[in-house]
Amino acid sequence: MAKEGHKYIFVLGGVMSGVGKGVVTSSIGLLLQQKGYPVNLVKVDPYLNVDAGTMNPTEHGETFVLRSGLETDQDMGNYERFLNRDLTNEDYMTSGMVYQTVIENERALKYGGKCVEAIPYVRDEILRRIEAAASYNGSRVSVIEIGGTIGDFQNALFIEAARVLKMQYPDDVLFVMVSYLPTPGTLGEMKTKPTQTAVRDLNSYGVQPDFIVARSKEFVDDKRKEKLAIWCNVRKDRVISAPDIDSIYQAPLNFEKDRLGDAILEALKMPAKKKASLAKWKKFATAVSNTKVPEVNIAIVGKYFDTGNFVLSDAYLSVIEAIKFSAAKLNRRAVITWINSKDLEKGGAKAVAVLKKYNGIIVPGGFGESGIEGKIKAIQFAREHKIPYFGLCYGMQLMVVEYARHVLGLKDANTTEIKKSTEDPVVDVMLEQKKHLADNKYGGTMRLGVYPAYLKKGTMARAAYKKELVEERHRHRYEINPAYVKRLEDAGLVFSGTSPDGVLMEIAELPRSEHPFMLGTQFHPELRARPLDPHPLFTEFLRAALARKRKK
Ligand code: GLN
Repeated sequence: MAKEGHKYIFVLGGVMSGVGKGVVTSSIGLLLQQKGYPVNLVKVDPYLNVDAGTMNPTEHGETFVLRSGLETDQDMGNYERFLNRDLTNEDYMTSGMVYQTVIENERALKYGGKCVEAIPYVRDEILRRIEAAASYNGSRVSVIEIGGTIGDFQNALFIEAARVLKMQYPDDVLFVMVSYLPTPGTLGEMKTKPTQTAVRDLNSYGVQPDFIVARSKEFVDDKRKEKLAIWCNVRKDRVISAPDIDSIYQAPLNFEKDRLGDAILEALKMPAKKKASLAKWKKFATAVSNTKVPEVNIAIVGKYFDTGNFVLSDAYLSVIEAIKFSAAKLNRRAVITWINSKDLEKGGAKAVAVLKKYNGIIVPGGFGESGIEGKIKAIQFAREHKIPYFGLCYGMQLMVVEYARHVLGLKDANTTEIKKSTEDPVVDVMLEQKKHLADNKYGGTMRLGVYPAYLKKGTMARAAYKKELVEERHRHRYEINPAYVKRLEDAGLVFSGTSPDGVLMEIAELPRSEHPFMLGTQFHPELRARPLDPHPLFTEFLRAALARKRKK
């Protein structure tokens, strides 16, 4: 049963993937929110993984962890950043989740002995989940992004569920198709045919798009809008041009100019409650793509960069965005250089010395042993040359390993993730994790989601946050071994943030008198950085990086 008077907007992709459905979904969300309607954004991932946590980031980019701890697709990160609020478990679904529920129901005899067919049972489970998301947070409008492209096998059941919702509530459901208009080099002309074909494909599901967002290199001219309107059966003023832009944060402003928000509200027969107040957003979007301000040069030393011939920085999407937000706040432009930690391993001292060029170094989160010694070399270099260093999760654990090896003199110090037999396991698997690993229970079993941390007085962390108690999102199985805390502290390392019971080390840092900024967090601060609310630790790190730049 649909929520009374609730509206549903389905965002679907035509022609090919990667055209920016997520940005369109986020932008529609932001515009409607700013026009006075509470929205919720839902991401549907048609793959069979129950969540995004078990996938290598080279598959679909980073795993974005919600406040609750659910491991989701990176698009959810964009949604949170655009809406400037936390999303809930209801806002995310995969085919795996849907089928898991249906199969559990079947095993529990909840279908009363019926033959459990995909339709109606799987379709209805999808609808139940859409409703569960709609009933949250006083939302009036759900914007639901269906992953994949029209014509895929995998997303067909989701489109079928959307069709049924439209049939039941014709006035309350809209379809937005995000499509691609190629301009082949040999022709030099923008072509509409692939979009026409995609719409016809969608029609074969019994679904007619109400809007077409036409992604292309340049603006879509009138002639082509007319052509799309006639051939695709969509009103011309509902064919929205979406040319390539420098920054995704420009998108909602362009859409507002093209009246997309108003046209959607009009189609849903809802009056705009107010003019969208995008002043703050505009200020941020202008700052973040301002190329005239001075640069701050940051090296990210990581490993998930290679997928064939492409560099997939998506694996660290939230880290990149968090840097950008803080840079924009400081009126600077962040220039990020990717450094493959494996190259530092192979290249010896000379290779590591390239790090000198940068104003700051980040080692982000990661798993497993590949490239580890390269990361440790980078950390040692940052510490010894007083280059601002920010370690995120694995980057904090390895910062502690490096400190134990080179300052405490524990030559074999390591994390047991890499070397089980190490003489000095300064980073060790958490007790409750041991059983999960022994049982091969990898999915959704890490220490996940928000946990509190207390910050010590007089530390950099405390000064950055300006408060004593913080809540941050986690995703890890290993921790700083409590047995080594005292020795590390005696050797000068400061654990400036700990769990309330003092057992888990949440932040490690060196005193400012020793190093301008050497800090690592067991949590992932990048997951909470927002355009209009940059993360204080990223901002402090960049401040230190800028100070180094001035000195040079
Ligand atoms: N591999 C480490 C752990 O499991 C770090 C995880 C991370 O960086 N997200 O604890």
